[in-house]
Amino acid sequence: MRKSTGPGLLGGRTDTGDISPSRLTGNGSGERRAELERGSGPNSQKRRTAPIRRLSILGATGSVGTSTLQLVDHTRDVFEIVALTANTNVEKLAQLAIKYKAELAVIADERQYGELRALLSETGIEAAAGPSGLIEAALRPADCIMAAIMGAAGLQPTLAAISQGSRLALANKECLVCAGDLFMQAVATAGTELLPVDSEHSAAFQALQGAQSCEISRITLTASGGPFRTSTLDELRAATPEQALKHPNWSMGRKITIDSATMMNKGLELIEAYHLFPVRIDQLDVVIHPQSIVHCLVDYIDGSVLAQLASPDMCTPIAYSLSWPARMSSPTASLDLVKIGALTFEAPDYAHFPALRVAKEALQRGGAAPLVLNAANEIAVDAFLCKKLGFLEIAQLVADMLEQADRRNMLSAPAELDQVLALDSEIRQLARGLLGQYG
Ligand code: NAD
Ligand code: MG
Repeated sequence: MRKSTGPGLLGGRTDTGDISPSRLTGNGSGERRAELERGSGPNSQKRRTAPIRRLSILGATGSVGTSTLQLVDHTRDVFEIVALTANTNVEKLAQLAIKYKAELAVIADERQYGELRALLSETGIEAAAGPSGLIEAALRPADCIMAAIMGAAGLQPTLAAISQGSRLALANKECLVCAGDLFMQAVATAGTELLPVDSEHSAAFQALQGAQSCEISRITLTASGGPFRTSTLDELRAATPEQALKHPNWSMGRKITIDSATMMNKGLELIEAYHLFPVRIDQLDVVIHPQSIVHCLVDYIDGSVLAQLASPDMCTPIAYSLSWPARMSSPTASLDLVKIGALTFEAPDYAHFPALRVAKEALQRGGAAPLVLNAANEIAVDAFLCKKLGFLEIAQLVADMLEQADRRNMLSAPAELDQVLALDSEIRQLARGLLGQYG
């Protein structure tokens, strides 16, 4: 896989570049940074100097959206809510828009526009709907956009948020999985501050502060192992959505919870980390850590290992994405290591969790393989939740889809967003076709 060469967030490609805060602001190193420091760069007018106040949330009704608003409640009067979006839950969206005095509320499902307008009548809150409404929310001037839509559906609004050039707090890992190079190039071009929200990537970002890329030898993402860490293959074969939705440590949306149970989530996160951080594929690793207290470890060339620890609560990485380079108070419970007692680590078992192996192979393969992996996985997870596919068949369907895409010569890297979207939709259709062969 080719890495983007632009001076985007953490994605700088030189072996000697530092991973200091200035690097993370999308103004990288060398000429471009000097240009921006002189205030003459194309994005110099977009540089944010004050703390984040005006905040928009794409995917406000979901798990990350809810944690973000919990943080807004916790800090009282620090943030002003600009735009909130949701897919179909129009009542909750309207309720949130009214509670947080949003300027704009957007429902992705156009059929619910009338209801949204009715719910917001006489509130002064603007309403919009559909794909163009999501883009409008992303483009509404704000200090930070929280990108927390689930799946590849978040790609276009998140790219629009980048073009605004303010801070992007990125929860939606699928954006980087299906269009990592294009995404990081867009970040570099716009001079956007890209802050990771995924807990492992936020942890890596924290452990990398002040580092030079040539000093890093390895980044290890931790994984809880999910609800089936100790299950036998027979138990995995018979696993139900109800069992898979019971994550031992984290409370999250349904799709990511299933991804955590298959460990596809960790595979998607390896691809995410590859795009965010200046490391090679062979410098990325995964370790099972059932307690979910250590979120990531960074090995340095002198043998030091820096890790970030916290209670498993998304409020911590979200807080860092909003307050960086400073820190802000969050409602996360303080960590009591004595009470926890032991922190344990194991190697991942690829026979029990084939999705992790398939995702690693897609990362190695590069081109459109991660996009195919993601699109097929979204279809497979949905089918599993509807009880049309077995638990182990999720990884099998994704692997079959990758093989089929390879045979059809569909794995070259898309050069433009239009090609990404067309391929994503084609793979979804093919994957739906494959579903008939299972069960
Ligand atoms: P969720 O399912 O709880 O919420 C998703 C949000 O996106 C909802 O507001 C929903 O209305 C909206 N949405 C869903 N489909 C949409 C569509 N087609 N068009 C427009 N809006 C749509 O998901 P979540 O758990 O909050 O996860 C959101 C993203 O953050 C995912 O990419 C996930 O991988 C990532 N993430 C989540 C967590 C977590 O703890 N939940 C942690 C790390 C990363
Ligand atoms: Mg994570």
